[in-house]
Amino acid sequence: MFETLTERLTGSFGFFKGKKELTETNIEEGLKAVRQALLEADVHFKLAKEFAERVKDRALGEKRLQGVDASDQFVHAVHAELVELMGPEDATLEMAKVGPTIILMAGLQGAGKTTTCAKLAKHLRERHGKRPMLVAADVKRPAAVEQLRVLGKAIGIPVFHEEGVTPPVVCERGVAAAKAQGCDVVILDTAGRLHIDDALMDEVAEIARVTSPHNQVLVVDAMTGQDAIESAKAFHARLTLTGVILTKMDGDARGGAAVSLKEITGAPILFLGAGEKVDDLDPFIADRMAGRILGMGDVVGLVETASQRIDEDEAQAAYEKMIMGSFTLEDMLGMLRMVRKMGPMKKVLGMMPGMGNAAKDLDIDDKQMNRLEALFTSMTRRERLEPEILDMSRRRRIARGSGQELGAVNELLKRFKDMRKMMKQLNKMGLGSMMGGKGK
Ligand code: GDP
Repeated sequence: MFETLTERLTGSFGFFKGKKELTETNIEEGLKAVRQALLEADVHFKLAKEFAERVKDRALGEKRLQGVDASDQFVHAVHAELVELMGPEDATLEMAKVGPTIILMAGLQGAGKTTTCAKLAKHLRERHGKRPMLVAADVKRPAAVEQLRVLGKAIGIPVFHEEGVTPPVVCERGVAAAKAQGCDVVILDTAGRLHIDDALMDEVAEIARVTSPHNQVLVVDAMTGQDAIESAKAFHARLTLTGVILTKMDGDARGGAAVSLKEITGAPILFLGAGEKVDDLDPFIADRMAGRILGMGDVVGLVETASQRIDEDEAQAAYEKMIMGSFTLEDMLGMLRMVRKMGPMKKVLGMMPGMGNAAKDLDIDDKQMNRLEALFTSMTRRERLEPEILDMSRRRRIARGSGQELGAVNELLKRFKDMRKMMKQLNKMGLGSMMGGKGK
């Protein structure tokens, strides 16, 4: 994500290496590089210029701290201004005090609106205990209604639609149906068009008028750069946007949209779409995003992803077995699966400090993980629990079963033995308890 922007911005920090003080003169080169980086990422030149000015004021105006060199001071100022530009920190959807919360979703065709409606419904149910209903009012794109029905069915969320009436009427009736069925959130999937046109804008504005939504959310494709920004301006002119969802952040978006949308629409980014699956929706956190843009990694993000998806008891049990030396291949498989639950390896690595850019060159890919898992699953459970019984003929069978060479099986067993040996040693040295185990 945002590789070029990150590289360019990080490059701008290089101007200050070895310099102790930031001055009016030496800051200019760095600012020029920042402006350039933003322009290349599709940020409007006026915004890029203003941003650089703000960085300058902050960097020169901040109190000089002991031991902080010019480079750190500059990085700090860029980071703080990025957070300011993309904030606030706690942007969330507004929930209705009485009756169902109505969320109108608008956007150009292909932006990912229908998919995002389903993602959001699932998110609100799973994370906020809500009972959402989806309303299919995109009658413009031929397959949109059916697509929403299929998505709704897959995630077990009701989808309302009515043929033969206009989209505003579908939405009004959808809200009424939600009330009648005891749903507390209604998500309106409105029509998109390939380009902004008056008919589209009139229709969304009319839907907003008749349903009085608590949230008017614009769905924008991050990959479309300047077009994303232009469409945001057009929707902003006709709707009272309360939030933005930026989709396709898993692609190689240049980052301009993420940086500029709040400034253009006045509405904060609420979520990021990071893939085609219904679970690929992440709350947007400005501070975290600024860190990622600057290639500083995202420790908080990593920790949260890990703690959400890894069952702590499972992890603790595996850990205790490890330090007790009673660790088996079955446990190792369990650990492999826990790590995999955290998400594709590159994504996990990309969130680690300093790994943002390096991760893309790493070949720890998911195919490799699949091959590894295939080795484990070609063993019987008994073999995994009692690795000692794995003689040559069993190893050959495992190799055949997983479609791999005997060498791969041997390598895995060697790694397993090394790991167990190391754990035993650590345990002897008493490091087990120091590392946080509940006891030996
Ligand atoms: P709509 O016309 O705005 O309703 O767009 P759709 O919801 O049909 O999405 C258009 C395409 O973008 C579909 O192929 C989606 O699977 C895809 N899509 C939506 N969101 C994302 C995302 O966050 N990442 C990726 N990679 N694809 C997405």
